[in-house]
Amino acid sequence: MNELLAHRQQQAQKALFEIHRVPLAHLPTPLEKMDRFGSLYGLSNLWIKRDDCTGLAMGGNKARKLEFLVADALDKKAEVLFTLGGVQSNHARMTAAAACRYGFDCHLWLLGDKPNGLPGNLLLDTMLGASVDFMPNMNDAELQKNIDDYLDSQRKQGKKPYYIPIGGGTGLGSMGYVAMIQELSQQLKEKNLEIKTIVTALGSGGTMAGLVLGCKLFMPQTRVLGISVSRTTGYFHNRILEVIREGEIVLGLDPIDYADDLFIYDQYVGECYGKPTPEGLEAINKLALSEGILIDPVYTGKAMAGLVDLAREGTIAADEPVLFIHTGGVPAIFAFEDLFHLK
Ligand SMILES: *Cc1c(COP(=O)(O)O)cnc(C)c1O
Repeated sequence: MNELLAHRQQQAQKALFEIHRVPLAHLPTPLEKMDRFGSLYGLSNLWIKRDDCTGLAMGGNKARKLEFLVADALDKKAEVLFTLGGVQSNHARMTAAAACRYGFDCHLWLLGDKPNGLPGNLLLDTMLGASVDFMPNMNDAELQKNIDDYLDSQRKQGKKPYYIPIGGGTGLGSMGYVAMIQELSQQLKEKNLEIKTIVTALGSGGTMAGLVLGCKLFMPQTRVLGISVSRTTGYFHNRILEVIREGEIVLGLDPIDYADDLFIYDQYVGECYGKPTPEGLEAINKLALSEGILIDPVYTGKAMAGLVDLAREGTIAADEPVLFIHTGGVPAIFAFEDLFHLK
């Protein structure tokens, strides 16, 4: 290993250890092999990291980020966790749970129309006591202006909101996935296994930013492929570089170049965010029937469809050790009953 890398590793390890973090996730999450699903596609070395099993109010990737974000909210003596997401946001649900656990109120903006009843995650947001406003979809600049105005008005009323950007996709939040790479490299050592390729869904990009930063530090032979479920490759390329840079600052690292470390695919989104695709649905059904593992139509189904297609077209080799990050999202399936039919 070269000296620069060894130095960065040491620096990052020390900084990660020192950053305030509160327990929220059940860790380590299981690392499992998927022989039956893999064999459907000729993949002989396919693994899954079960971050759907992080435990926080039905689990998912946001629990890892919230360990750092909620610690920061406690340090800042905030009283209300405020965040936003889609109507079926898993991030909103887990933020509501984290708020309960650490004595915060929780306020959510859900972008989209108010549905009938309380489908999927909305039931859980409600059970967890969050107050919810439904907001019309708007562009990024308008949304940011609304957020700023809202935070201003709250502060003027003497409230102490802590704002968590969408998906918790910030430098601090991404530390959850830098730490996950440390956890993973320990698990791989125990199994005497090397992973060549990690595949994840991209929503805010925070998870991928943490994975890329973590791999560059602790698993430099491993590449990370991100499958967009919403925006374009160009958008994510810039956004993820920004979050990585924020992450480097959190860790006290000098900036280095990551331009060759980002592999981003936006051809599996389908019509738009939140709209199921036939390929995603097929991946959901095949994974359920071959492994008994549930994934969802919004994130993990599309990401798995991407993995399978990248294997078909040769970007992923048949015998290459591949790890799919199961980022969660299972509660959302209860808002998509119409996709499934009784036998
Ligand atoms: C939020 C989310 C993602 C995307 O993670 P980001 O860090 O926001 O990119 C993927 N899968 C599920 C199930 C999620 O809830």
